[in-house]
Amino acid sequence: MVISIKPRRDAVGLGRGHLLVGGAWRSSRDGRTWRHTHPATGEEVGEFAVADAADVDAAVRAARHAFDEGPWPRCRARERIRVLRRIADLIREHSDELLALQALDNSVPLSFSDAYVMSPGCAADVFDHHAGWVDKLGGETLPPYQGGDHLVFTLREPIGVVAAVIPWNAPLLLAAQKIAPALATGCAVVLKPSEYATFVVLRLAQLIDEAGAPPGVLNVVTGPGEPTGEALVTHPSVDKITFTGSRAVGRRILHAAADGITRVSLELGGKSPSIVFADSDVYAAAAVTMGTVTVGLSGQACVAHSRALVQREVYDEFLSIAAGATALVRYGDPFDAETTASPLINGRQLERVLGYVAHGQAEGARLVCGGERVGGDLAAGNFVTPALFADVANDMTIAREEIFGPVLGVIPFADEQEAVRLANDTEYGLAATVWTTDVKRAVRLARAVRAGTVGVNGYQVEPHAAFGGFGKSGLGREGGRSSAEAFTELKTVLLPTTEELM
Ligand code: NAD
Repeated sequence: MVISIKPRRDAVGLGRGHLLVGGAWRSSRDGRTWRHTHPATGEEVGEFAVADAADVDAAVRAARHAFDEGPWPRCRARERIRVLRRIADLIREHSDELLALQALDNSVPLSFSDAYVMSPGCAADVFDHHAGWVDKLGGETLPPYQGGDHLVFTLREPIGVVAAVIPWNAPLLLAAQKIAPALATGCAVVLKPSEYATFVVLRLAQLIDEAGAPPGVLNVVTGPGEPTGEALVTHPSVDKITFTGSRAVGRRILHAAADGITRVSLELGGKSPSIVFADSDVYAAAAVTMGTVTVGLSGQACVAHSRALVQREVYDEFLSIAAGATALVRYGDPFDAETTASPLINGRQLERVLGYVAHGQAEGARLVCGGERVGGDLAAGNFVTPALFADVANDMTIAREEIFGPVLGVIPFADEQEAVRLANDTEYGLAATVWTTDVKRAVRLARAVRAGTVGVNGYQVEPHAAFGGFGKSGLGREGGRSSAEAFTELKTVLLPTTEELM
């Protein structure tokens, strides 16, 4: 049966998405809108305002005013804590609605929203977590270094106006990871969600507004990278850019930040290895690794482990288990509990993934299964069957570039030394997982592999821990104390207690 999201869309009653500027919801000045089509069905989901440079300027001015003149950076810690906790409560109360909007936006199946990091509960926890930092982030007092009787102490002050740009794949978590620490430290934010996941973020912004964040503390500009994102990251009144997305856009943003000497943090892509030793639970290793490029987001996750490095003794066994796991993937209506995986987000990404599959074959890798567009009742959606490649060499394009789709390349290795060399032979360095029952080897590998997070016999994102990349996977860290600090400036104060320092 051909699937349709229309009844769900109508039930939610999606209207036109507006911009949030200085506490008021409004259209774009020139009335331009973006029509979003659903990746699973090709139906129109709804339309929202496209902010141009003038709209973005108004939003940045509103944030500037809220930061320079408003109560938020100056209010008592307990007041900020109260608002952040209220946001967390409201997210939990509206969990079902947020989940439905997320599925309408990006077609991530509801079944996968049980995965903690995709759930509204996780976004709520991020706000609770950062509420906890409000009254704990401080500076230090140092003994005087030179002569004299004076105090040297440091203060952590909010960094100012934050431009936050996020992708479409985990909109709730990624919006929370930026807004929560920024608000906790007293900053004002202009957020630009992805044009492929806007409605869920607009609802989150409504809840933040409802929770009592003063006008202008959170502003939302919607629209694509050009003109909206570009106008935001090049705006001279922005103090910090925090970006999550692709390496190509990250590079552009770094250029913009260089021009303005604007503080910047980047969370970019990956080509993360799953390193499977013969002494491991090969069934778990193969099923979980294949799962990272199929279950839920169909490999459209920054931490997808799309490079499997497998010890030769268990290479064939790994392939056969991974191929078996692809048979369990169920595509379809994201609201159907049986659906386990999403379509590719848009036609461009569909063509890209199919292009990589063809390229992998042309380079000499062996396509074990998958890599085909799904037809029949699902022909209107951007579905591609999970592709498993054997006999992959680490210098092939499919082993080097982030594909961001359901494609796993399996590379053999002989020993630990070769495994480490292959794991680190990448421009990226976001995540890695080591599969072994030898605890000493696990620790050796965890230290030797150059990646921001290394899992042992499994991997998960822990939103309270530092998360980010080595190499071209990004700049800076997000999560926990590291992100709270990243939204502050450190100031040193010299306080003479006698006349000597003068
Ligand atoms: P993308 O880079 O295409 O878009 C990300 C955001 O940037 C969107 O909001 C987009 O509108 C905006 N944008 C595009 N051009 C811009 C410009 N010139 N100026 C300012 N903003 C611009 O990425 P995507 O397709 O939405 O997401 C996929 C990428 O995100 C993958 O590379 C993935 O690995 C990465 N990602 C990283 C993490 C992480 O934490 N490291 C998490 C999720 C996704």
